[in-house]
This record gives sequence, C-alpha cells and structure tokens, in this order.
Amino acid sequence: MNNMKYHIWTEGCQMNTADSQRLASALEALGYEYIEKPEDADVVVLNTCMVRQSAEDRARGRLGSLKPAKEKNPNMIIGLMGCMVGYKDPKPLKKKLRLVDVFAPPSNPRPIVDYVMSRLVADEKQGAETASFEWNSGEILLPKPQQGTAVSAYIPVVYGCSHACSYCIIPYKRGAERSRDPEEILAHARSLAAQGVKELTLLGQIIDRYGLDNQDYPKLPELLRRIHDIEGVERIRFLTSHPNWMTDELLKTVAELPRVMSHIEVPAQSGSDKVLENMRRGYTDAQYRDLIAKIRDTIPNVSIGTDIIVGFCGETEAQFEETVQHLSDLKLNVVHLARYSPRTGTLSERTMADDVSEEEKWRRFRVIQKLQEGIQGEYHEKLVGQTVKVLFEERKHRRWLGRTENMDLVFADSDEDLAGKLLPVNIDWSSPWTMGGTIV
Ligand code: SAH
Repeated sequence: MNNMKYHIWTEGCQMNTADSQRLASALEALGYEYIEKPEDADVVVLNTCMVRQSAEDRARGRLGSLKPAKEKNPNMIIGLMGCMVGYKDPKPLKKKLRLVDVFAPPSNPRPIVDYVMSRLVADEKQGAETASFEWNSGEILLPKPQQGTAVSAYIPVVYGCSHACSYCIIPYKRGAERSRDPEEILAHARSLAAQGVKELTLLGQIIDRYGLDNQDYPKLPELLRRIHDIEGVERIRFLTSHPNWMTDELLKTVAELPRVMSHIEVPAQSGSDKVLENMRRGYTDAQYRDLIAKIRDTIPNVSIGTDIIVGFCGETEAQFEETVQHLSDLKLNVVHLARYSPRTGTLSERTMADDVSEEEKWRRFRVIQKLQEGIQGEYHEKLVGQTVKVLFEERKHRRWLGRTENMDLVFADSDEDLAGKLLPVNIDWSSPWTMGGTIV
C-alpha cells in the first residue's frame, strides 16, 4: 500500500471529536496515514456542526476550499459527515454538494469506511481484500499523535437527544436519544486504556440519562464504577448533564470514586424563568440554584461549568440582568457562552422572533465575559502557592500543558516527556484562563 493518506477536519462538539477518532481508527486499520494538508490527502473528511450559523459557515467554506484539489486529483475521496448531513436520507444534499463523494450521519462514519473500501477494491489497491474493521467490537486504534493527545480521549455513551430545547437543532440532526451498549463502551474504554490513554470523558447530550431507555443497561453511576475498575484509567469525567436528570446517587458516586474528576458540566442557559420557559428547559432559576448548592455539598472541592445563551428571542434587558445576577451569585468556574443563532426548523426559529440585535447580543456577551473573567481570576489567584495534581497532556511551545482534576489549565517547564504523567505542581502565577507552576 503506497502510503495512502487521509485528513479529517472536525468542527463542533466533543462528540464530533470522538466520531472523527473512530473514523481515523478505521482508516488507519485500512492502511491510511494521517496527513496535515488536506489537499495532499487521498481521503478528506469534513465532520460538521450546525449548532450555530458560524459553525455551518465554516464547514461550507472548508468544502469550497477543497474544490481546486479535487479538480487536480479527481480520485480524491471527499466525505461529509456530522450534523450537516444529519440522520435522514442524504439524497437532497447529494444534489446540492456535487464535490462530495460520500455522506455519513453523526456518530456513524461507517458509510465513509465502506465507500473507501469499495474504492480500494475497484482500484485493485493491494490489501483491499484483507482490510477490515470490526464496527461493534468497541475496539479503537488510537490515531497517531498528530491527531491530538493520546493522554485523554472521548467515549460516546448516549447518542442523539430527545429533549427538544426550543433553540437546539441537535435532536433534528442526531435523532432520538439512544444509549450505547455497555459492553461496547467497556471494550472501547479498555482498548483506550491499553493504548496508554489516562483520562476518559464519557459523552452524551444528557449524559445523566444513560441507560434509562433500556432496562437491561446499567445506569450512569454503575457505568462509572465499571469504568473506574479498568486498569490504567486514572481519570474519568462525563458531560453534559441536564439539571433535571442529575440524581443524588450520581453525585454521591462522583464524590466516592477517587478517579472520577470533581468537575460537573451542567448548563443553565439563562437565569431568567421566563427565558428558561421559552427555551423549554424544564426548570426554574431557583431549582438550578438549589442543584448547585447540592452539588457543592456532596462533592468536596468541585468545579462547575455552565453554558449560557445571550440574546435569546424576546430576552429583555431586565431578563438579561437576571442572568448576570445568577452568574455573579453562583460564581461557577467556567461559562461556555453563545449568542443566540436561529436554526432552521427548531421551535424558536419557527415561532419566536429573533428580536435582539446583533449589536446587543455582542454587548451582553461581553458583559458576561468580563464578569466571568473576574470570577475565574479570583479562583485561580487563590491557588497561587498551593500544590495541585496535574495530568500533563502535551507540549505547547516550550512549556508542558496539563489539567487539574477541576479542569484548570496549568503550564510547567520541563525537558522531560511529561505526556500522561500525573504530577504535583506548585502554582507560581495565575490568570483568569491559565496558571503556571513548578513541578514538585
Ligand atoms: N446537550 C448539551 C449540548 C448542546 S450544544 C447541553 O445541553 O448543553 C452546546 C451548547 O450550544 C448549548 O448548551 C447551548 O448553550 C448552545 N446552543 C445550542 N443551540 C444554540 C443556538 N441555536 N444558538 C446559540 N447557542 C446554541
């Protein structure tokens, strides 16, 4: 096999990163090697996101930029996967996107792999008959290190989503919620651990609902326990939680299991009851605040992340101020912030007016950014002089970069290879985004 090359471009959420990894693993099993430049690859796959207009625009831009390379090399295989394709029949897309040879839905790169195999056979490439990839074994070959760090990896656990928040396109693109077979999850986890991965992140839109759709499946606390028992796994976390589905048992399990990280991602989206109702989130600000108090009571030293959308349909200045109050009271550790972007077909796009101006959305965005910068700056400053445990992932410029079990970023200088090492670090300096320290 004369050095066939693949390139995967990934946009969007961690689930897409995991899906791309699974595809890379399959292509490597077929004898392909990763290459940095898409125009030099034999197979190029764009793994796309639709959650906001900006992500969609980037995917279209990427696809357009492949045109000259495809004209020069008509044998180049271009695959499109993820939310731009969705789980429904891709035929209408095929007519519009003529550059694309093969389409695959989110979380199932199999059509791309099958197509690549069929072309290998058609072109009588050596090795095509013997190349194979076992889909449901859960076994994943880690791509070579260019594809990101091998220290930490994602494992899909719940596919799709059935919650239908009024603004969100995910259920329309990823289909109904379904839990992945636990044996497949465990095989996936064991396979990653055996290849040296230290940190596993379990993924689902509402991860807390794992197993609720199948009475024979363990629920999330039990799944965490089983993964916790796997040799070599040093850290486990899971995302994303929905406030209505986080059980006491789950919180207790996180507190109890030493290798489950003290970090929870539980999006509020807004601090205004009216906006939450329009978003169809299913809880009030008071209920969310109670949950945060309970999480902090149950899990010592926990860090909490949230998602916030500013400028949702009809969000008044006063309602926005409620979100500001919510965040300044709760002082969460991380805020993933977005400006509302209407998505075709969603309830909010069909029935509510996108009536906050772009300019005002940006202003609200910056107000929260500034507030959160202060909150994070304070948290990090308190850690100066203290010793924290850092799992190092990769070298950035000349410094090693890792994370604490609260997901805080820490830099440290070292000439040694620290990848995958869990080491105590004395914090010397801090900023709202990162910290730096000396290995003890
Ligand atoms: N199920 C997860 C992830 C959803 S997508 C969750 O509940 O958090 C990640 C984030 O993107 C969401 O939490 C939301 O804050 C944001 N988002 C989703 N749709 C959006 C839209 N139409 N406009 C702006 N932000 C959006």
